[in-house]
Amino acid sequence: MLTQTPKGTKDILPIESYKWQYIESQIAKVCTNFGYKEIRTPVFEHTELFQRGVGDTTDIVQKEMYTFLDKGNRSISLRPEGTAGVVRSYIENGMSSQPQPVKLYYNISAYRYEKMAKGRYREFHQFGVEAFGSKGPSIDVEIISLISLFFESLGLKDVGLNINSIGCPVCRKAYNEKLMNYFRPSLEKLCGLCNNRFERNPLRIIDCKEEKCKSITSGAPAILDNLCGECKEHFEGLKKGLDNLGIAYNIDKNIVRGLDYYTKTVFEFISENVGTQGTICGGGRYDGLVEACGGPSTPAIGFGLGIERLLMEMESQGVPIPLPQEVEIYIATIGEIADTYAGKLVYELRKRQIPAEKDLLQKSLKAQMKYADKLGAKYTIVLGDDEIKNNKATLKSMKNGEQIEVALDNIHEEIINRR
Ligand code: ATP
Ligand code: MG
Repeated sequence: MLTQTPKGTKDILPIESYKWQYIESQIAKVCTNFGYKEIRTPVFEHTELFQRGVGDTTDIVQKEMYTFLDKGNRSISLRPEGTAGVVRSYIENGMSSQPQPVKLYYNISAYRYEKMAKGRYREFHQFGVEAFGSKGPSIDVEIISLISLFFESLGLKDVGLNINSIGCPVCRKAYNEKLMNYFRPSLEKLCGLCNNRFERNPLRIIDCKEEKCKSITSGAPAILDNLCGECKEHFEGLKKGLDNLGIAYNIDKNIVRGLDYYTKTVFEFISENVGTQGTICGGGRYDGLVEACGGPSTPAIGFGLGIERLLMEMESQGVPIPLPQEVEIYIATIGEIADTYAGKLVYELRKRQIPAEKDLLQKSLKAQMKYADKLGAKYTIVLGDDEIKNNKATLKSMKNGEQIEVALDNIHEEIINRR
């Protein structure tokens, strides 16, 4: 136990972390281009926020949350997703009085007590955005196009986009009745949770992952065929907007998404490469949530994109990830005077943004050169007493073996000129 991460978690080691840094830098770029600003909220919140914000009838709240009492007897939960915390912050910080829309993005770890499977962890990471204050479909289109350009910037191709509308409280009311009439004769065959959902939120039944429920839900009436006029118009606007940008999509009447608070637009980006569910990114509109959490009535839309699944997809598609900046120069030394001199030299090089290394283990010259090779250093020099006395050394390219004589106090310029 002492030397094992808890189930469902993993270290991100240096051989992987540069990939994460790359993805994070692409996220920052695309979000800046779209005018979304970063927000950072706490890893834990009051449990109540998720019960309200994610929804009492969801799998997340019913089965998957890490909830505990803190020493002050408060019920606290680790965040299972990003939206609820951002909504809380929007309300708490009075963002509704800022110019609308308020466009935010985040890059977070999230926690769910889940059964382990491919692409399913207990600690995982999400990139997400939330946009508040705009109710028309053009912001839905903007958000979907942001994801699409993000994938493009990474070199990903053919990630499928599925869209649906799950209506608003108006059309949902009539639809729920239809749905209840459909499910009522089969209640005994549905799982316990779905029986519970039947009264509280029958739409949730359609999202149940239990096999016995799935076979019954497959014939259920679809909300998309039962939208009110306003929701229908919104969905038409969404499709037009996507067509306008040339973004391809499928309409999937079965997407209801795992969270309670979605209204109108819901969407998923999917791929076969990322595990059983196949979802890399899920999102949608949640026009009722800000008000349900105690804020002013505010339309809003957002998505969450799993970074682990994104990496799986990138690997499957074989898209290249730029390698991290390697060591540019290794200063090998012979003797104590050279070692002291090299200490100052690497410091001066690093000051000029040149990644430089020297020996730290009193290795032999041969071992130092071997190590420089392992580090992937582009250049090496060997310093002894003579080199220091004459202010001269031989700069050797490890790539092509080229050797040139350089002044010790001018190495940085030689390197910069050769970049
Ligand atoms: P799934 O259908 O896979 O359970 P979900 O509907 O629970 O997904 P969301 O809550 O919408 O997922 O989260 C958005 C994204 O976060 C998912 O599309 C996925 O990429 C990622 N994600 C969700 N749960 C996990 C997990 N346990 N491990 C890794 N990634 C996850
Ligand atoms: Mg899930």
